[in-house]
Amino acid sequence: MTSTILINPADESVLREIEHTTVAEVDAAVARAADAQRGWSALAPSARAEGLRRFALAVDGASEELAALEVLNSGHPITQARWEAGHVRDVLTYYSAAPERMTGRQIPVAGGLDVTFLEPIGVIGIIVPWNFPMTIASWGFAPALAAGNAVVLKPAEWTPLTAIRLGELALEAGLPEGLLQVLPGKGSVVGDRLVTHPGVGKIVFTGSTAVGKQVMAGCAARVKAVTLELGGKSANVVFADSDLEKAAATAPYAVFENAGQDCCARSRILVQRSAFDRFLELLEPAVKGVVVGAPGDDRTEMGPLVSRTHLDNVAAYVPDDSQVAFRGSAPTGPGFWFPPTVLLPASRTDRTVTEEIFGPVVTVLPFDDEAEAVELANASEYGLSGSIWTRDVGRAIRVSRAIESGNLSVNSHSSVRYSTPFGGFKQSGLGRELGPDAAEAFTETKNVFISTAD
Ligand code: NAD
Repeated sequence: MTSTILINPADESVLREIEHTTVAEVDAAVARAADAQRGWSALAPSARAEGLRRFALAVDGASEELAALEVLNSGHPITQARWEAGHVRDVLTYYSAAPERMTGRQIPVAGGLDVTFLEPIGVIGIIVPWNFPMTIASWGFAPALAAGNAVVLKPAEWTPLTAIRLGELALEAGLPEGLLQVLPGKGSVVGDRLVTHPGVGKIVFTGSTAVGKQVMAGCAARVKAVTLELGGKSANVVFADSDLEKAAATAPYAVFENAGQDCCARSRILVQRSAFDRFLELLEPAVKGVVVGAPGDDRTEMGPLVSRTHLDNVAAYVPDDSQVAFRGSAPTGPGFWFPPTVLLPASRTDRTVTEEIFGPVVTVLPFDDEAEAVELANASEYGLSGSIWTRDVGRAIRVSRAIESGNLSVNSHSSVRYSTPFGGFKQSGLGRELGPDAAEAFTETKNVFISTAD
């Protein structure tokens, strides 16, 4: 039996040791899930709705505890961790309305009645990354359960604590044993077994594009459904006609939130050349004003990176000879700290411009006109998120339509709302989560023709 020693990223103290699930244990969990799913899908829709509402209430009651766990395990600032726990509750509440709204269709045909049913897939495997451990898990399990499925969830190796607690809360809320199981362990063992297991009908994978491709290939070999939420390198496009003060004041929070460990991070700021110098002047105090420090402190806006390994990966993008425009602050001493860093890259093909750094590092590049802004924004293999700053309504709409990305915001940096769809273009993913249609993505459409012939 192997295990992971969990380390508090803010001070490097040892938190706890977590044993890894074995392949035999994954198989036993999938068998239990299949059993639980049969009973769950046979319940009245109103009973499943009620179960999800009770689960949401249990999460609400434990929100301080969940937030505290995320502070310890992931180094998230406490205010953000509280928002995350509340978001899980809200996602569950939103999808608790779905069981009673899973309507099929009645399609006009000759000689009878044709109807469609949205049948649950069965057992869903959900594989999540370490950056937002509880929220991303809920984007999968809430709609999957609502559609009548059971879920086997694999948290990331470094950050399993909130997911394990959510599994306990599901039981405390009265959801059937086996319906939502959390199996900590290695991606190459637990994650891979969920992909290869014939009893798992769909995989929801959130993580790196490299591993996502392997997961997709594994699913292809079994013609298994798959949703992929992968990496990003999103653009924050600032036109000269925009509210430059507001664009500059908010830009740090669009990339440094969660210490840049955010798939939606606007990590490429593109600024119209005529406003470039003024924007940088305004950006500097905003970056220096980001409060970086102890995650447990209510005033903290940015915490540490998640691990020593990840800190080393991020630091490798900023060698001593980097073109650093300016930097914010970070604590010294123990913990995986890296200051907010603004780079002026020498070229548009520099790896700081093209690769997902997943840390508090942002590049700023100039563009001349709208066409060049769109070309630069789209010069990425990714297409997850992005922002457009302009006062010209026509331009806002033209540029929003032209940028190849799943989640854009105009004069704001919002990306995630549980009631709107979320997902990526290009190598940022496949399929959508959240929003009104997410529960349907966990069903098979069955068409039934009933003859009316005598
Ligand atoms: P990762 O790809 O290393 O791991 C993600 C999950 O996959 C983990 O649980 C891991 O254990 C598991 N895994 C690893 N190898 C596996 C295998 N062979 N088979 C099955 N599962 C396997 O990613 P990470 O480092 O944990 O997370 C960071 C990445 O996640 C970034 O690229 C980020 O952009 C992306 N991300 C995307 C979104 C989104 O919604 N698009 C959200 C958050 C994070």
